[in-house]
Amino acid sequence: MEDKRKLLDQPLHGIYIPIALILFGTWIFSWSYMPYSIAFIAIVFSFRYYEAMKRRSSIDKNIWRDFELMDKTLIAPMTSIYRFKLNREDEILDIPTGHHLACCFIVDGKDEIRFYSPISNQFDAGFFDILVKHYERGKVTRRLAQVQVGQTVKFRGTVGTLNYSPGMAKEIGLIAGGTGITPILQVITRVITDLEDDTKLKLIYGNETERDILLKNEIDEIAAKYPNFDVHYTVTHPEPSWTGSKGYVTREMIEQYAPQISDDNMLFICGPPEMKRSLFAITQEMGWKKENIFCF
Ligand SMILES: Cc1cc2nc3c(=O)[nH]c(=O)nc-3n(C[C@H](O)[C@H](O)[C@H](O)COP(=O)(O)OP(=O)(O)OC[C@H]3O[C@@H](n4cnc5c(N)ncnc54)[C@H](O)[C@@H]3O)c2cc1C
Repeated sequence: MEDKRKLLDQPLHGIYIPIALILFGTWIFSWSYMPYSIAFIAIVFSFRYYEAMKRRSSIDKNIWRDFELMDKTLIAPMTSIYRFKLNREDEILDIPTGHHLACCFIVDGKDEIRFYSPISNQFDAGFFDILVKHYERGKVTRRLAQVQVGQTVKFRGTVGTLNYSPGMAKEIGLIAGGTGITPILQVITRVITDLEDDTKLKLIYGNETERDILLKNEIDEIAAKYPNFDVHYTVTHPEPSWTGSKGYVTREMIEQYAPQISDDNMLFICGPPEMKRSLFAITQEMGWKKENIFCF
């Protein structure tokens, strides 16, 4: 369905017909009032234009814009949540489910562009959050870690190819590795906050150690609250007390914890490139059709 709210952001929406009527009325009534009518139209037009410009989204698909860092919070080893300010306090980052923002830093005179999936939801107004893991030799993440509150970072977007709609699958198996949880979290939030979406979600989340599991409390809370959402964790280097799976995500884990292979079900996979490549191959060997697998 077409989103008619977007029409409000067009400065001239709903203005042509009233202008034509005023001009036509003035022409019939008396030409001598024409300057007053034109002045009135100019005032109304300027006000509408100003209001529409204020309502426009802070983020643009094609133009890089600067966003002020409001806050940063370390949530796991080498991983922080960065909060950036939107233009208006009541603005919500309107981002299609599972889409990303492009972020740009100039490193050694060259534009380095990386993608980040916001984890803030459709109820968070005035800001957006990204969750970023830092790499010691990472070109962009090393620079991002040095940004101080009050300084700005360039973003544009949104970017992405997932076209999520409720009912696109009966059950969705979500397989995430490390920071690959960020777009997966968008899907989870979207499904659990839509009362009419009864898609069943089954998450398999892999990490190096227990301490690396991002947003575990939040994920566990969702699993406890929503019967349509299950989670299973696996870590490569567990503590002796660990009760979840050990090692990388395997075929057996997918058989046990993801939905049954069916044309009605789908798999969404997000993680480091090698993980995505290997899971795409494994799941097809298992019998999943290519068109039922989406890799972010
Ligand atoms: C669609 C999409 C969405 C993404 N969303 C997020 C997100 O929400 N949060 C987030 O933190 N990242 C996300 N990423 C990854 C992100 O875009 C960068 O690739 C990452 O932040 C590293 O950038 P860098 O410039 O610091 O590292 P680079 O300079 O590109 O790489 C330096 C070194 O870091 C290591 N490295 C880099 N990326 C990875 C990785 N993914 N896994 C393991 N080792 C790696 C490698 O050793 C590499 O040689 C996303 C990627 C894509 C494609």
